[in-house]
Amino acid sequence: MKKICFIVAMQAEADPLIGHFGLKSLGAVFSPAPCHVFQGIYKDLEITLVTNGKDDGTGLDYVGCEAATLTAQLAIAHYCPDLVVNAGTAGGFASKGACVGDVYLSHKYIVFHDRRVGVPGWDRMGKGYYPCIDSDSLARSGGFKQGICTTGSSLDMIAEDAVQMQQTGGEIKDMEAAAIAWVAQLHHTPLLCVKSITDLVGAEKPTASQFRENLNMATRRLGEACFKIVDEYWADDRL
Ligand code: SAH
Repeated sequence: MKKICFIVAMQAEADPLIGHFGLKSLGAVFSPAPCHVFQGIYKDLEITLVTNGKDDGTGLDYVGCEAATLTAQLAIAHYCPDLVVNAGTAGGFASKGACVGDVYLSHKYIVFHDRRVGVPGWDRMGKGYYPCIDSDSLARSGGFKQGICTTGSSLDMIAEDAVQMQQTGGEIKDMEAAAIAWVAQLHHTPLLCVKSITDLVGAEKPTASQFRENLNMATRRLGEACFKIVDEYWADDRL
């Protein structure tokens, strides 16, 4: 049986997937790590979805690279998936044709944009350039856009981040993809990122309020995209 593992930062991003695929909560299987596991069989695929879990103190989802790294390591080592899908929300750039609600698939490689290590060699290592699967046919058949995912530890963007994105070509800005891609690479596990745009970077309205306003719509679109991708994966032996 083919196995897919979704790695998702926020519960709101995960809810449409859990509902559609009929996944059951297994709880905090890896406690004291906070990640939360949901699992089920859909068609004849084993689908595992792992969220980063919530911080007890604030009651908020753990977003960001540290939680994503821990979640990815535990989930990939334990469930040995054939494909990891990092599903989530992201910021896009109007200058690169992004609109709120667009769904992007990872493309070419995945990078960090806030690692400033100005030493030859280490500079490239800091940026990552981790592999992802070829998403051309999925993008064509599903009508998705494709973009280079770029990850940092902040929701906002400072000028230095923009310089790095210019260097790498990064165009889909999030807070987890590169961390997960690093772990997937260590395990030689194929990775696809599916990112729904909640906000446009540099728009007049602050990122946080765009994010809150558009989260519901973006997570619905994210869910619909993931349903199509799973159906395609199930039907296509090449994937
Ligand atoms: N809950 C907070 C925001 C969460 S942080 C609030 O209500 O304001 C944002 C989450 O969405 C992260 O998991 C990140 O991967 C993704 N994200 C969406 N837009 C982003 C952007 N412009 N930059 C970085 N991450 C973004």
